[in-house]
Amino acid sequence: MIIDLRSDTVTVPCANMKEAMFNAKIGDDVFGDDQSVNQLEAYGASLFGMEDAIYCPSGTMTNQIAIKINSNAPGELICDELSHVYKYEGGGIGFNSGLATKLLQGNCGRLTAQQIEKAINPDDIHFPESQFVSLENTCNKGGGTIYELEEIKKIRQLCTNKNLTFHLDGARVFNAIVAANYSAHDLGQQFDTISVCLSKGLGAPVGSLLLGTKQDIKKARRIRKLFGGGMRQAGFIAEAGMYALKNNINRLSEDHARAKELGKTLEGLSYVKAVLPVYTNIVVFEVEDHIDLNEILNLMAAKNLKAVAFGPQQIRLVTHLNFTDEMLTESIKILTSISI
Ligand SMILES: *Cc1c(COP(=O)(O)O)cnc(C)c1O
Repeated sequence: MIIDLRSDTVTVPCANMKEAMFNAKIGDDVFGDDQSVNQLEAYGASLFGMEDAIYCPSGTMTNQIAIKINSNAPGELICDELSHVYKYEGGGIGFNSGLATKLLQGNCGRLTAQQIEKAINPDDIHFPESQFVSLENTCNKGGGTIYELEEIKKIRQLCTNKNLTFHLDGARVFNAIVAANYSAHDLGQQFDTISVCLSKGLGAPVGSLLLGTKQDIKKARRIRKLFGGGMRQAGFIAEAGMYALKNNINRLSEDHARAKELGKTLEGLSYVKAVLPVYTNIVVFEVEDHIDLNEILNLMAAKNLKAVAFGPQQIRLVTHLNFTDEMLTESIKILTSISI
C-alpha cells in the first residue's frame, strides 16, 4: 500500500466519475458548443450565487486571469506574504499584469481589514496605485487556515470604499466552507471574483473555475484565449468537475477528521518539535533542529508514506479522498515507528 499525502492533487477519478466523463456532451468550447463545460460553468456560478463562471485548466490561470481583468498597470496588488498568487505562480502578478505586489505578514496567511487599510498607498505620484486585494481561503502555506466571515465582510467594505478589486483564491474554498459556519453564497456576496480548484480536495483530475460578474467573465474569456487556455472538447474533464461538485463537497469533513488524527499522533513523537494547529485537510509539522528533514522524508518514503518538505524544517501532509481509514491507521503506525 502506497500512501501519498504529498497533496490533495494526487487523487484519481473513481468509477462513477469516469462514467460521467465518458458520457460528456462535448463540442468545441472555443465556439461555446460544449454543453458539459457550459453546464459546469452555470452550476459553479449558481453554487456561489454569482453571475457567471469560466472553466480553465488550472487555478494558477484562474487567479492570473482575475488579476489581469481587474487591474490597470502601473498599480499594486496587496496580499499576504504566504499567498499562492505571489509565492507559487512564477511571478505572474508582475509578468502578466505588470503590477507591483505589497506583501503583508498576516496570521498564518490571514489578513485583517485594519492591516490592509494601512497598506493602501496614498494618492501620491511616487506610489503605485493600490488596485487589488487577494485573500486565500483556506490558506495552504498557513497550514489550511480559515477566514472568519466577519473579517471578510470588513475587508469587502474597505475595498468598496477605496475602490479596490477584491479577489478570493479559493483553491480549497470548500474545505473552508465545510469547516466554517458560512456558505458558498455568503462568500459569493463578498468577493468580486473567486477562483475555485476542482482538482484539489474535490478530486477532479483537471480544472478550475473563475467566478464573477457577466462582464468580468466576458473579459476573462479573452484573456483565457490569450493565455492559451481555450480548450476544445473539454467536456470530458468538465464532467469530472461537475461530478466532484455534486458528490465530493460534504465528504471533505472526513479528510479534516483524518488530518486531525494525524496531527494528534505527531504531537507525541520524539522527532517532532511542533505541529501547527490542524484546521482542515493540511497538517504541517516541524522536525527537531538537529534532525535532517530529508532523512525523515526518506524514512517515511521507505515505508511507502509520501510527504513533501514545506520549509527548512517543515513537512506537510495533506489528506484527500483517496486516503482511507485503513491508510490512516497504517500512517499512524509508520509515523510512530520512525526513530532517529
Ligand atoms: C493549488 C493552488 C492553486 C492553483 O494551482 P494549480 O496547480 O495551478 O491548479 C492556487 N492557490 C492555491 C492556494 C493552491 O493551493
